[in-house]
Amino acid sequence: MSLVVQKFGGTSVATAEQIHRAARRAIQEKLAGRRVVAVVSAMGESTDRLIELAYQISRNPPKRELDMLVTTGEQVSIALMAMAIHEAGHHAISLTAAQVGLVTDSVHTKARIHSISAERINRELDAGRIVIVAGFQGVDPAGEITALGRGASDTTAVALAAVLEAEVCEIYTDVDGVYTADPRLVPQARKIGRVSYDEMLELASLGAGVVHSRGIEFGTKYQVPIHVRSSMTDNKGTMIVPETPGMEDVIVRGVTLRRDLARIRLNRVPNRPGSAARIFERVNAHHLVVDDIIQNVTGDGTMVDIDFTIDLEDAPQARALCEMLAQEMDIGSVQVEDQVSKVSIVGVGMRSHTGVAARMFRALADSQINIENINTSEIVISVIVRRDDGEKALRALHAAFQLDTGP
Ligand code: ADP
Ligand code: ASP
Ligand code: MG
Repeated sequence: MSLVVQKFGGTSVATAEQIHRAARRAIQEKLAGRRVVAVVSAMGESTDRLIELAYQISRNPPKRELDMLVTTGEQVSIALMAMAIHEAGHHAISLTAAQVGLVTDSVHTKARIHSISAERINRELDAGRIVIVAGFQGVDPAGEITALGRGASDTTAVALAAVLEAEVCEIYTDVDGVYTADPRLVPQARKIGRVSYDEMLELASLGAGVVHSRGIEFGTKYQVPIHVRSSMTDNKGTMIVPETPGMEDVIVRGVTLRRDLARIRLNRVPNRPGSAARIFERVNAHHLVVDDIIQNVTGDGTMVDIDFTIDLEDAPQARALCEMLAQEMDIGSVQVEDQVSKVSIVGVGMRSHTGVAARMFRALADSQINIENINTSEIVISVIVRRDDGEKALRALHAAFQLDTGP
C-alpha cells in the first residue's frame, strides 16, 4: 500500500477550523487507500510566543531549556489534530519525536537528525491508524529533548518520508507553491511548476523560507518527491524533483533575499599557515555557520584581512569569539558591520548561459545599488548589499531576469 507524508505548517493549523481542515485532508488520503503520516507544526505563531516568553524570563536562557519550551508547541497541535480525526470518526494517534525514536545530535536549538526508527510508526499504520508526528523536535542519545531549528518541521516530514519510503512528501502551507521570489516582497512573483533539488536547496538556504533547507538535503539524498502546496485549495503546487534536461533552458529559476546578516572583519591577521584554520576551527566549535569568507593580503604581505558573513543573531557571539582570538593571535582589530543582506539569483541554466553575472551587476547598477561582496558558484550568484537596498535589489533582479513576465 502506498504511503504519503503530509506536513501542515503553523499557518495551516492556526485555528480549530484549520485543524479540522487538515484532518479532513489526512482522512481523504486514508479513504483513498493510502497509509498516512501527518507531521504538524505548532499552531500559528505560537513558537514565536514561547520564545518571547523565554526572553521575558531571562536575557540568556539556557539552550536546553529553550528546546524544552519551544517543542511544547508541536505537542499541542499533534494532540488536537488526532482529536479532530477521532471526532470525524477515524483512527489516529499522535506521537512525539521521543515516542517515534527520532534521534538527533545534542546541539540544542539547531540539532541535526541522526536516525529515525520506522518501527513504532509502522506498527500504528498496520493497526489502521493515521499517525500524527510532532515536527521540529528530536531527542538526543541521552534522552534530552532537542529542537531542529526554526522552520524545521519540513525537515522532520521529508526525513520521515525518506525512512518510510513515501511516494510523496506534501508540504501544506499558506502559499500555493514555491515562487520565483517571496511573494510578500515581490508581488509580481510567479509560481514555479517544477524545480530541481539542487535549485531548491540553494533557494532555501539563501532565504526562500517556504521550505527548510535541511529537508531538501534529505529529499535530494533519498530522492523523495516533494510537493509544496496550499492547505486552502486543491490546486497543484510546486514539485521538487531530480533535474531533467529542459530545466537548463531557464537561466534564473528564482531570486532570494537573506535580510539579517552581519559581516565580521578581522583586520591585520598574521599571514602565515594555520591562521585561517585556527579562526574557523574556533568559530565552528561554537556551531556558528559562516559563509562568504574573503581574504585579502594587505600592506607588505605580512598581514591579511579576513571577512565573513554570519546570521545577525549570531553576531554578538561571533564578535566575542573573534575578540578573544584577536588577543591570542595578535590580530589588529575586529569590526562588525550589522546592516548587510545577501541577494542571490539561482538557476541550473547558469551552467549553459554566459554573461549572467554581468547582467546581474548591470541591473543592480541601474538601480543605484552598491555591491559590497560577490560570491559565485555553479548555479548561484550572490551579492552582499546594504540592508536598506535588499528589497530593491531583489525586485530589480526579478525584473532583469524576466521573472515578472515568464520566459
Ligand atoms: P509554514 O507555517 O507553512 O511552514 P512558512 O511561513 O514557513 O509557512 O512558509 C511560507 C511562507 O514562505 C510564505 O508565506 C512566503 O511569504 C514565504 N516565502 C519566502 N520565499 C518564498 C518563495 N520563493 N516562494 C513561496 N513562498 C516564499
Ligand atoms: N514551530 C517551529 C517554528 O515555528 C517549526 C516549524 O514551524 O516548522 O519554527
Ligand atoms: Mg515553514
